[in-house]
Amino acid sequence: MHADQDPDQLYPEIREAVRSLCADFDSAYWQRVEEQEAFPESFVQALTQAGWLSALIPEAYGGSGLSLTAASVIMEEINRSGGNSGACHGQMYVMGCLLRHGSDAQKQRWLPAIASGELRMQSMAVTEPSTGTDTTKLKTTAVRHGDKYLVNGQKVWISRVQHSDLMLLLARTTPLDQVKRKSDGLSVFVVDLRDAIGKGLTVKPIRNMVNHETNELFFDNLEVPADNLIGEEGKGLKYILDGLNAERILIAAECIGDGYWFVERASNYARDRVVFDRPIGQNQAVQFPIARAYINVEAASLMRYKAARLFDAGRPCGKEANIAKLLAADASWEAANVCLQTHGGFGFAAEYDIERKFRETRLYQVAPISTNLILSYVAEHVLELPRSF
Ligand SMILES: Cc1cc2nc3c(=O)[nH]c(=O)nc-3n(C[C@H](O)[C@H](O)[C@H](O)COP(=O)(O)OP(=O)(O)OC[C@H]3O[C@@H](n4cnc5c(N)ncnc54)[C@H](O)[C@@H]3O)c2cc1C
Repeated sequence: MHADQDPDQLYPEIREAVRSLCADFDSAYWQRVEEQEAFPESFVQALTQAGWLSALIPEAYGGSGLSLTAASVIMEEINRSGGNSGACHGQMYVMGCLLRHGSDAQKQRWLPAIASGELRMQSMAVTEPSTGTDTTKLKTTAVRHGDKYLVNGQKVWISRVQHSDLMLLLARTTPLDQVKRKSDGLSVFVVDLRDAIGKGLTVKPIRNMVNHETNELFFDNLEVPADNLIGEEGKGLKYILDGLNAERILIAAECIGDGYWFVERASNYARDRVVFDRPIGQNQAVQFPIARAYINVEAASLMRYKAARLFDAGRPCGKEANIAKLLAADASWEAANVCLQTHGGFGFAAEYDIERKFRETRLYQVAPISTNLILSYVAEHVLELPRSF
């Protein structure tokens, strides 16, 4: 992508194809899935079969080897169509850790099957109940015994476990008091959930505000083959952090898709709804918030493209990826509020989809990274303010 190109004109064929696929999963589909508290299996299956979720897997492993910019357009279009990429984004980016840090044998073993959809790798287990964002203090341990590791501990909020075959796990392999830096001594493993569940791993679903399959995990002497260790023992946190820029940019794109969806719905309704003998959108008190929300989504989208362009050029993009995520999550949340307000009471009716998307987009203020942690990153790493934790 060149700096003088209009980024919104990029990848028209991808936009068109994703839109057309998503059109088969309409409002009625998402309402049915939500009512049944089900996983949108046929939607994820259709995206997989069309190859969209293997966008970032190189062609040598059966993926389409697209750029992150292109992948962000895919995520944006899913959410812009009214869908929820939260159900499937893991399948696009969790494998990145394996791709960047796995051995050739591991990549040959898993990537082609992930690309074809034969294997789902859409879970990543990092968060723990007692340590939260303070990742280096996590308490789950993996202790080597011969050709395997024994894993013990607990995780919380681990998504899509019941719809994954493989899960990435971050666990401590060297106790905190025996490492030089607190970020050392953590390791990443591929857990084959088909072997693990019921044999050392217990999965307990958490009912939550959105229809998002997420779980508590309990590890009790779970055996993980030593062959499933990714990269070097003790360097796992670095490997996970390496993947975060891509994740931030893709999540920003989802927020942008949501933002456009809310703005479009709000504008359509404000044009059509007549109260006091005129369209409500004729009142500046109604139209200005929609205009402001649109402006903020547009601005966030530019930062997303900047971050993605740097990422695709192999250049540092931590600052831009974090800023894009914060701007986009704020813009989509503002647009959600405006859209709900514009619809008055009807915004609360499930059949309009607004209350569902409102709840879904609210999540991005908290997960996969909370707004405060992005502010702290920018304060410390960009503005060189003193470390706060
Ligand atoms: C639906 C859902 C799905 C999720 N899926 C996954 C998943 O698949 N895998 C996974 O590993 N995790 C997942 N998470 C967890 C998510 O990443 C965490 O909830 C998030 O990172 C925040 O951690 P926490 O909930 O422990 O909050 P805490 O760390 O307890 O923080 C609580 C609040 O305090 C603020 N805070 C904490 N410390 C500071 C500080 N020093 N300065 C300023 N503010 C601070 C935080 O910003 C936050 O707002 C998911 C969460 C949800 C809700």
